[in-house]
Amino acid sequence: MSKIKNEFNRYDLFIVDIDGVIWRGNEVIVSNIQSLNILIKQGKSVIFMTNNSTKDRLSYLIRLRDSGISIKSIEYILTSAYATALFLRKRNITKVYVVGESGLVSELLAQGIRVINEDDCMKEGVEAVVVGLDRNLTYRKLMCASTAIRNGALFIATNTDKTLPLPDGEVPGAGSIVSAISTATGKEPDYIIGKPNTFMLELALGREHNKSKVLVIGDRLDTDIEFAYNYGVDSAIVLTGVTKLDDITRYPHKPTYVLRTLKDMLL
Ligand SMILES: [Mg+2]
Repeated sequence: MSKIKNEFNRYDLFIVDIDGVIWRGNEVIVSNIQSLNILIKQGKSVIFMTNNSTKDRLSYLIRLRDSGISIKSIEYILTSAYATALFLRKRNITKVYVVGESGLVSELLAQGIRVINEDDCMKEGVEAVVVGLDRNLTYRKLMCASTAIRNGALFIATNTDKTLPLPDGEVPGAGSIVSAISTATGKEPDYIIGKPNTFMLELALGREHNKSKVLVIGDRLDTDIEFAYNYGVDSAIVLTGVTKLDDITRYPHKPTYVLRTLKDMLL
């Protein structure tokens, strides 16, 4: 079995992005998956963390396993949908309107948060509007969200990724929808849960974790690398997703490592 290079063997927790690292659309990135399995086999903790809010953690667990990742349990998956649900529960928010997909709704329901429909949103009002990627976005949904925010509801974004990488190119991400609501309300989100903010990382690390033993791996500078920078941990950009080598030289915060694929971590 391949060995981990010394400079990577000093980490014990690897926080790994999913889109652009494990797969691009429906295409799996085999060399990255094989390399992560070697880390797992050698006793490293590998946590999968994604800003994508469209699926719940169970769906991710199934898909990661189907893709060949030897992931032990759902505890090793953090999504912005799940983190948003925990964030709301912590603040005792119990009634929300959602612009988002079924995975986000199911994570909110699992934390005992009521998700109301468009008709009720216009009538009764909500404490918060939660916005994630919604591939069934309608004008009416934008209208309900904007009205609620204008009436005082908190504006919470699962993430503000501008785009999602697919094999044929990039498509609009949650950030595009958040911008539409910001334009309509004249307000920026009160909270953005996903990367590059550190809320998800705080969840992953629990109370005390030695930061020098954590490596964040991702394919995006403005989320993954920025997130590691914000938290003060090392980072590796992997060139299997949206970032090209040229992009790195222009970006103000440099990743600790640049990897063509995750195989570069192995001897
Ligand atoms: Mg990514």
